[in-house]
Amino acid sequence: MEISRRSFLASGGAAGTSALLSSLGLGFGPSAAFAAEARPQRGKITTTICPFCGVGCGEIVEVREGKIIGIEGDPDHPINEGSLCSKGAALYQVHHNERRLRKIRYRKPGGSAWEELSWDQAMKMIAERVKKTRDATWVGQRDGLTINHTSGIACLGGAALDSEECYLISKAMRGLGVIWLEHQARI
Ligand code: SF4
Repeated sequence: MEISRRSFLASGGAAGTSALLSSLGLGFGPSAAFAAEARPQRGKITTTICPFCGVGCGEIVEVREGKIIGIEGDPDHPINEGSLCSKGAALYQVHHNERRLRKIRYRKPGGSAWEELSWDQAMKMIAERVKKTRDATWVGQRDGLTINHTSGIACLGGAALDSEECYLISKAMRGLGVIWLEHQARI
């Protein structure tokens, strides 16, 4: 089949390119598959799930000498088939970002200055406050019924939590007698 400028434009230009290629017996499928196979591998490949929302898109992480050198959509993942939204596509920058906070920062109630805490200090402070609040608000019985709960503590999850983390957090909270358990993701 001979393609003239006129016949190309008559086919709808760019929008009709796919149909035109198809009419010529050509298509993007084999080219796309070849491109995926021909992609140079620069490091060890592993897969992960995007942590940003409950859609759970699959991503490929490339690691060389213990460092992440690239993250992209996983074409074999059944949910996203390689595509990512802007947040998922920027996941690499979560790891490599000089503006990322790497230390715990704490501002005292009523204070205006941030101070740095170690993980041990922060965990100890949280545990002490949880214990104090739980003890102060614990309700063992009401109207002759054993209820064993505290309504003085609430737990709010986020879309960045995966199923296993949600399971462990809800177990830990229920073990403490926390009844206000919520999650922001609505999918
Ligand atoms: S944030 Fe975007 S890439 Fe990540 S799981 Fe959600 S939709 Fe997928």
